[in-house]
Order: sequence, then structure tokens, then C-alpha cells
Amino acid sequence: MGGMGRPTSAAGPTPTRVARMTPPAPAVAPVAGTLVGLTGPVADATSGWPPGPWGPRPRRRTRRPRRSGSAGPTGRTLLGVWAHPDDEALLSAGLMAAHRRRGDRVVVVTATAGEHGTEDPVTWPPARLAACRRAELRASLAALGVDEVHLLDYEDGTCDRQDDAVATMRIAQVMEEVQPELIVTFGPDGVSGHPDHVAVGRWATDAWARTRPSAELWYPTFTPRFHRTWGELNDGIGLWFAQPEPPSTAPADLVWGERLPDDLADLKLAALEAHHSQTGRVIEQVGRTTYREWWRHESFRRADVVALFARSAAVPASAGIRQAA
Ligand SMILES: [Zn+2]
Repeated sequence: MGGMGRPTSAAGPTPTRVARMTPPAPAVAPVAGTLVGLTGPVADATSGWPPGPWGPRPRRRTRRPRRSGSAGPTGRTLLGVWAHPDDEALLSAGLMAAHRRRGDRVVVVTATAGEHGTEDPVTWPPARLAACRRAELRASLAALGVDEVHLLDYEDGTCDRQDDAVATMRIAQVMEEVQPELIVTFGPDGVSGHPDHVAVGRWATDAWARTRPSAELWYPTFTPRFHRTWGELNDGIGLWFAQPEPPSTAPADLVWGERLPDDLADLKLAALEAHHSQTGRVIEQVGRTTYREWWRHESFRRADVVALFARSAAVPASAGIRQAA
């Protein structure tokens, strides 16, 4: 997760520690007129498994597509937009696996190869680690039945210095191609507060507002119970290394929150283990059983419609998205 791992040095690629805090990013600011679609059906967080209660259920299918590249005649499409290889697994592996299982198309955009995600850049120079992490990403997604991934190949750790308009446009192009019904990405908190996370969430949210506002937009979060149960481990790996206010959402306010059933928890563990350069040592330290439980819950909240509305109302419709920020 680019800083969500254990911030100590040892042999082998380990997560980069980002020591410097960056100022909080501006809240996302879609232009006025992008609120169409925000009044879709309110999902029922208690509707249980499978997830995705954002519209009518697909009709019974007799066949399921084998590849994620085909959504099938009634399948839906989930698009995840993330910063580093492993973000998608840690935050949404269960969601992706559940969607694939019911025949939905799942597509992932990853902004960087995470090539600086090590404290041993001598053994793992960027080019070598990038190749390693790209392979890990594909293997991880394959464990979930996902084979569509778009790598934007921005340099790890530089997303907040990239041209927002260009990056937003690139993600918007994917959205136009893929036509997702559900988009998941980082909220303004960036989960860990990593500047790459915050930037990618802003790009994806702006792209959604421009090109796909009818889609559901969800941000990952955690519940108070997660913080109570796993606070010590979270602190131990420096999960909130750049985050003064770790995201926490009451269960009643989640659009979707699940303790993954055994089979999906197993798939998620496999997906996380595939990101060996980032997760291997932590899994070894805490044990697979504990690690599996630790990341077994996945929680999402809807993009904050009220905040989006308040900001967009103050911005002339002709203003560019970035000018609005
Ligand atoms: Zn990350």
C-alpha cells in the first residue's frame, strides 16, 4: 500500500516509509451539474451477501463468463482505481472476488508500479521492483479471477505532483471504455493518508463526475470495531503513517460492510500473499490465521454527496474541475 507496510529495514523489498506529512489535500470538487445520478437507489447495508445492491439484481444466468473481460449479458462492471499494487487487494479483494463469482466484470486501474516500495533499493532497484510488483499484481488479481488491469505507470510517490487534468483524463477514458456501474477508489482521506492515495482518489472522483456520474462511487473505510480490534497491529505496521484521522465509519453509515465468508476470506488471503514483496514479512510475523482475520472485513462508504454538493454549488459550471479545488 506504499507505506502501509512495516516500516523497518531488512533484506528484501519492504514498504517505503514516508516520513514527511503532507498538507491535507483539498476535498474533491466536481463541477456543478455532476450530481445527476447521485439519487440512485439507496443501498441496503443489511442486505447481506452478495454485495452490490445498487440496482436491480441481474436475472438468473445459466452461464458465467470465464474471463473478467466479458461481463456477460446481464453482468455488471466493477472498476477499482488504486495507487499501488496491493491497495486493491487489501481494501477490496473480497468485493472483487464476490463480483467475479456472480459473473460480473472487474477491472482495476493501478497508478504506479510501487517501484520505490522498499527500504533496500540496492537489492531492489526501481526497475527490478517494478517488474516484481507488476507480476505480483497480476498474480494477485488472477487469484480472484480478475485479468483486466490498467497500469498508468506514474512514478511511485509522485502522484501528487502529476498533472491532475491528464491523469483524470486517462482514468476517464477507462471509465468510458468500461462503463462501470460501481467505482471504488480512495476517498479524500487516502485511507493511510499517502499522498499517492489522495491524488488517485481525486483523479478517479473527478473522472467519475465527468464521465460516469450515474455509477455508484464508494470509498473504503473502517469501522470503530476494526480500530478497537486491530489497533495495535495497525500501529505496528505504521498503517496511519500519514494519517492524523484514520477513517472510521459507523456500521449504519456503510453502503457495504462485510465480514467475508470463509471461502472469500481464503481468496483474499491468497491475493494478499501474492503481493509477497509487501506482505510476506508481516504475514510471517503475525501468522496467516491472524492476518486473514485482520483483513477479513471490508467496508465502504458512499462518496460524500453532501460535501460534493456544497462544493459544486459554489463553482461555476464553466470552471474546470481542478480550478474548483
Ligand atoms: Zn498504496
